[in-house]
Amino acid sequence: MADALLKVKGLQVAFGNAKVVDNIDFHINPGETFALVGESGSGKSITALSILRLLPNAARMQATSISLQDQELTHIPEIEFCKLRGRRIGLIFQDPMSSLNPVMTIGEQIAEVLELHFQLAKPLIKQRILELLRQVEIPEPERRINEYPHQLSGGQRQRVMIAIALAGEPDLLIADEPTTALDVTIQAQILALLKHLQRQTGMALWLISHDLALVSNIADRIAVMQNGKIVESAPTRDFFNQAQHTYSLKLLAALP
Ligand code: ADP
Ligand code: MG
Repeated sequence: MADALLKVKGLQVAFGNAKVVDNIDFHINPGETFALVGESGSGKSITALSILRLLPNAARMQATSISLQDQELTHIPEIEFCKLRGRRIGLIFQDPMSSLNPVMTIGEQIAEVLELHFQLAKPLIKQRILELLRQVEIPEPERRINEYPHQLSGGQRQRVMIAIALAGEPDLLIADEPTTALDVTIQAQILALLKHLQRQTGMALWLISHDLALVSNIADRIAVMQNGKIVESAPTRDFFNQAQHTYSLKLLAALP
């Protein structure tokens, strides 16, 4: 715990009087796959968004402490925080179409991230883009680099989102329901890719899902969220053997 990558203490988020994240503590270790599961509306996405300071305007957030590699984030001015977001913490979510720019090519969108975070000469940027597209296993990257998001399939668009997130070389990749919008066969491929990339790069992977079955195969640790609270958290094997909370037991009982 002392050398956790991300440490969150006393996090609360409210919309008006409704507490949607209710004083939670959790941590993510370097290089691990951490799964946050819980039913829709339990507060998983809001938790991730609050750490990235991407909450809707109506939300009010409070935290005792949020630290990344022992650097306290809560007091960092916005202008500095922007440099950290996308660089040290990457994010992908359910619907890649909503975050890809429809009028920019795949290559331009990855280049934007590279230019924001690194000083790279033009030829090196192109080289790095191709490398990233290969890393996320997009076929024919030389052609894809000049294509627009609508020319790609849903699974390929999610791969592009992953490439954009990887472009910052983050220590932590947050994947919020990364496969929910995809066909079942593609879901497994994207999850396998995320796990592979996590092993290859050594980054930590924070999977957020309503589906315990989907994430339990690849998670090192599982935390369960219910009504804004983390009700249970344990290494995956212990979770399967010794979960105690009624809601965890319900999730386990529902597994195929
Ligand atoms: P999850 O990701 O677990 O499905 P969310 O974190 O998206 O859940 O949402 C948690 C709660 O916050 C839900 O009850 C939802 O209704 C509420 N919520 C989310 N966004 C808003 C918003 N913009 N305004 C008001 N309430 C919101
Ligand atoms: Mg969500």
